[in-house]
Amino acid sequence: MSKGFLLVISGPSGCGKGTVSKELLSRNEDIIYSVSATTRKPRVGESDGLNYFFIEEEKFKNMAKADEFLEYALVHNNYYGTPKEFVLEEVDKGEIVLLEIDVQGAMQVKENYPEAVFIFLLPPTMSELRNRIIKRGTETEEDINRRFTNAFKELEFVDEYDYFVINDKLDEAVKNIESIITAEKLKVKRH
Ligand code: 5GP
Repeated sequence: MSKGFLLVISGPSGCGKGTVSKELLSRNEDIIYSVSATTRKPRVGESDGLNYFFIEEEKFKNMAKADEFLEYALVHNNYYGTPKEFVLEEVDKGEIVLLEIDVQGAMQVKENYPEAVFIFLLPPTMSELRNRIIKRGTETEEDINRRFTNAFKELEFVDEYDYFVINDKLDEAVKNIESIITAEKLKVKRH
């Protein structure tokens, strides 16, 4: 089996990371999804252990102290983190492990695991990004504005990534990511 790697998909809030990741996973059953831990409350339809491990802030902080996260960050007032042991074991086994995380988290992974593959997902336009944040319908006016302002700051990090993919049409975005995966599998040298 070829060598495994961490595949980090990141980008500003509303760029469609969740939708693109879901579609990528449904088309590629061999990709393993890293389920994050979060202190956010579950939304309707979300289940523990599948979408996230929903945990209390105290437990989260204890896990962080015990160095159990590959990366973690405070995103929109909640903590999110990638459980380390699981993802590293899977990569060791030769698997491709998908991390769908925010930009701060991606930068931490880059610091500690520069051999990971980093994809920055972009919206087609900023007004489309704002529409998508609004359409989600789960946020207050204040949340919408905060996420939109953050998105501008996050865009500055695009240079830190290996690839960018524009998420205009879902099928095209997923196909581009699949091409990146194929290229990475065939790579002779990794960093
Ligand atoms: P949501 O609450 O909408 O599911 O996610 C909010 C944000 O947190 C998204 O940008 C998502 O990518 C990010 N996120 C989810 N899991 C993690 C994680 O483990 N680490 C980091 N740094 N961000 C995460």
